[in-house]
Amino acid sequence: MNFLEERIAKDGIVKEGNVLKVDSFLNHQMDTELFNAMGEEWKKRFEGKNITKILTIEASGIGIACVATQKFQVPVVFANKSKSINIEGEVYTAEVESFTHKNKNQVIVSKKFLGEEDHVLLIDDFLANGCALQGLIQICNAAGATVEGIGIAIEKGFQKGGTTIRNLGYQLESLAIVESMNAETGEVFFREN
Ligand code: 5GP
Repeated sequence: MNFLEERIAKDGIVKEGNVLKVDSFLNHQMDTELFNAMGEEWKKRFEGKNITKILTIEASGIGIACVATQKFQVPVVFANKSKSINIEGEVYTAEVESFTHKNKNQVIVSKKFLGEEDHVLLIDDFLANGCALQGLIQICNAAGATVEGIGIAIEKGFQKGGTTIRNLGYQLESLAIVESMNAETGEVFFREN
């Protein structure tokens, strides 16, 4: 097991409905040393890529992206779920269905912060069905930016997102891929890398 898998096995809580709770180190209380190690690992895996910006989505991706970016030394932009700055023509928008909240959000990124000159690394905490990532990809496409790669902390390999995104041809680097989990015993099984 790698460092993230070990931490999930130790502190992750398996909930009913295929939800993995990691709020003691990733989603609520945040272990920034762990995030730092994640950034280092992504830096290695995306070696040689010319990355000019990191794009994530609020809220849980922001902390991870901000720490990870210290290894890349590029700005972090996050797609905003608030509608308050949705000024027609000045923002890129995408609709994202939330796996955890089961609702749809319009996410927006200002045109000021993403353009055709950008080479983007997408970062997020979880990959489940891939809706959040597809929204971010859609925003990059609208901006004419190049998606250089995708860094995910925890991919739930038994949901369709990973296959969909890899089939689209993106370099997707998930640091832990959960193959299955059991809400009764609390066990988490990982895919061999
Ligand atoms: P997707 O859009 O790929 O279906 O889901 C990804 C988003 O849903 C992530 O941004 C993450 O916030 C949330 N998510 C999906 N599955 C889980 C899970 O098992 N646990 C937690 N904590 N968040 C999840």
